[in-house]
This record gives sequence, structure tokens and C-alpha cells, in this order.
Amino acid sequence: MGFVSSRAWGLVAVWVLAAAVGCAGSDPEAPGRVLVVGLDGASLRVIEPMLKAGRLPNLERLAREGVMGPLRSAMPMASPRIWNTIATGKGPWKHGVTDFAKPGPDGKPRLLLSSDRQTHAIWNILSERGFDVSIVNLWNTYPPEKVHGVMVSDHLLSREVEGRETFSGAAETPTGPLIHPEALAPLLMATLRDAEPLVDFANPFESDVAIAPNAPRKVMAKRFDEDLALARLTVEIDREIRPDFTMLLLPGIDRISHHLWAGMEPPEAYPPYMRMTDAQRLGSRAVVEAYYEFSDALLGKLFALYGPDDLVVVLSDHGFEAGVALISLTGIHEGQGALDGVFFARGPGIPAGGRLPKGSLRVVDITPTLLAWLGLPVARDMDGQVATFLDRPSVAAIDSYDGPPIERLAHDPENANTKRIEELRALGYLE
Ligand SMILES: [Zn+2]
Repeated sequence: MGFVSSRAWGLVAVWVLAAAVGCAGSDPEAPGRVLVVGLDGASLRVIEPMLKAGRLPNLERLAREGVMGPLRSAMPMASPRIWNTIATGKGPWKHGVTDFAKPGPDGKPRLLLSSDRQTHAIWNILSERGFDVSIVNLWNTYPPEKVHGVMVSDHLLSREVEGRETFSGAAETPTGPLIHPEALAPLLMATLRDAEPLVDFANPFESDVAIAPNAPRKVMAKRFDEDLALARLTVEIDREIRPDFTMLLLPGIDRISHHLWAGMEPPEAYPPYMRMTDAQRLGSRAVVEAYYEFSDALLGKLFALYGPDDLVVVLSDHGFEAGVALISLTGIHEGQGALDGVFFARGPGIPAGGRLPKGSLRVVDITPTLLAWLGLPVARDMDGQVATFLDRPSVAAIDSYDGPPIERLAHDPENANTKRIEELRALGYLE
């Protein structure tokens, strides 16, 4: 935990120096560092057979050294609802992010912003206690909050924003700074131009393998690049400030699974008009599995930054199931078949080789469990509980962590999103 004045964050030079002296490494009582990686939509139906086949070596090691199993989601499984539940320990009616958008004063839909979150997320709680945090691409982190550390907004990847506009019918996307502290943005964005690849893995959508006929290859290829960029940013932030608590959300698995899930199901799972050739079905499956292998390789790069005293967690907000949406989507997460996401964790206080019974760990339990691991109390206004597998001394609960106001960077709703896209283009990141 660094106890660095937030006033120091204005200048990169001051900030890097402050981070160097603020490190908790010299305190033997301090808990280790924490890494939480969200793989949106990751499913045990894909992971379990791949683990057995030895195709996900980093998740396999995590499972061997710690616990793994299903993580029970909650309906309806819209990603912002669930990720905000994971990050707050509270259900949607308490945290306030019940959907993608809500009607604005003019009646037109408006994307839900960070200011729509009605309660403290774990990064606010930790920031207020002097932990250095690194928060990358979590839902509703626009405008970025002035955390004690770094916050990369989920609006950074502009395609994502465009997708949300289309999805939610929102009329406008406000823009402004997308990274806190703003002074760090040029350095972080510059790392995205690195010629050296973070992982040695070919983009599976740039091959000509047969896949589901309506699946948008170019859009999915972009998802691959985006996950790669988000992982790279996270590694770079780690290098800069060595955060006590890192939380990263990689959206790619969810997005490609919507298009290619038919590859994971028997042909009879779909109506005749949705059926594919065997080659298309097998190709779709091969590409989904390749994407999981790619995600595992990214995890390996992140895990390498953490030692045995640290806590490493990988989780997803829901799974996937067969279903038809729009004209070409063959994977959905609406019913019982998708209700379980995944959970992996290893670190002190977590039994090696532990397996979670179905339904034993819920999305509301994640924040209480992370707090308990860090030796902090759970709040009585949270809906979740500390995971039963965690062996940590119990700390008396407190009523609530809410109270101190959350400061955010300013944003200009008048400023068109195109400006941000132009900036990203100028950095060579967007086509
Ligand atoms: Zn989804």
C-alpha cells in the first residue's frame, strides 16, 4: 500500500517517484498483491475439456495451486449488471447499474456512466485506504474516477463505445479524458504501438478457416487486438506503479462466443435455417478454442508478474448456451444454461486443488472475499459473503464503506466521440 498524496498525481515524473517510495514491499505484515482478471463470458463447458487436454497451461496451473469451479451469476445476465455486482458485492438495485443505458432528460437513451454507480466499488474502498490500484476496462468507468493509482476507462476502446451506442440506442457518447491520471495517458497509449508482440499468438480471425457463415471476421479480429491491447496496458501499468490491486476485464471471449457458439453445440441445437456445414461448425469450434488459448497466453504474461504471496483470481460473469439472437448470433446468456461463470484463485489462505461445488460461490461474494483476503472488514450493506474456502482471520464487519465522495475526471458531453477516435488513429492503434 502506498500512502502517497493524491495531489502528487499531476506530473508523471513526480508520480513515478512517489510510486517507487510508496511500495508496501518492506512491510512484513502487509498482504501480498492482488490480480483479478475478468474473462467476460468464459465458460467451464469450453475450459474443462481444454484443461484435460493440456491446452490451457496457465489456468491449469492456477487450478492446481488453488481452487476452481463455477461462479453463480444472477439473471438477467447483462454484463454491466453482473460486473458491477462483482465489483461492489451488491445486487443491481443497490449498485444502480441495472442496464446499459437509461433515458436522459430529453427522453433519448443515455449510456450509464461511472456516476450512475450508487455505491463504492472495491477500487474506491481500497483507494481510500491508500492501496495503489490499477483498474482497466471495467464496466461504467467513464468518466474515470480519481482512484489512488490508475483507471483506464471502458470507453478507451472506441469500437466498444460504438457497439454500446448501437446496442443501447444511445444518442450520444460523451467524451473527455479516458485515463486517470491524465498525465500518464501518452505513455500508456504509446505502448500500444510497440512492435514487439506481448504474446506469440496468431490472430485466429486472420486465417481462412471456415466458420459460421454470418460471423463478422473483421469485427472479431479487432476483439483479439483489443484484448491484446488491454493486457499490454495492464502490464505497462504494473511496470510503472507496481499496484497493490489490479483488476482487468477482457471482453473478447464473450463477443466471439456470441457469433461462434454453434461450434460448441450439436447441430440439432439450432433450427434448420441456422444449421452450418460440418466444416463451418468444426472451424467455429476450433476458433473459439484458439481464442481461449490466446486468453490463457495473456493470463500467463500477467501471472508472471505475481509471486507466491500474492492472490491471483480469474473469473467470468456468466457462461454461454445455445440460442438464436438477431440473425446470426448462436450463443446467448439468458437462461439456466449460462448461469454459471468460472472462478479460479490461488494464493495464501486458499487450498491447493480445491474444487467449488455448484452454487457455492456467487458473484456477490467476490468483493467480500477479496476484502477478507486483504484483512479488511466486509460491510453489512453488501449482499455477499466471504467464500467458505478462504482461510483468513475474520475481521469484525462494518456498516458500510459508502460515504466519502468519489471524484471523477471532467468530461464534455458536447465533444463528439469522433475526436477520441481520431486521437487513437493518430497513435496508429485504430485503422
Ligand atoms: Zn455477451
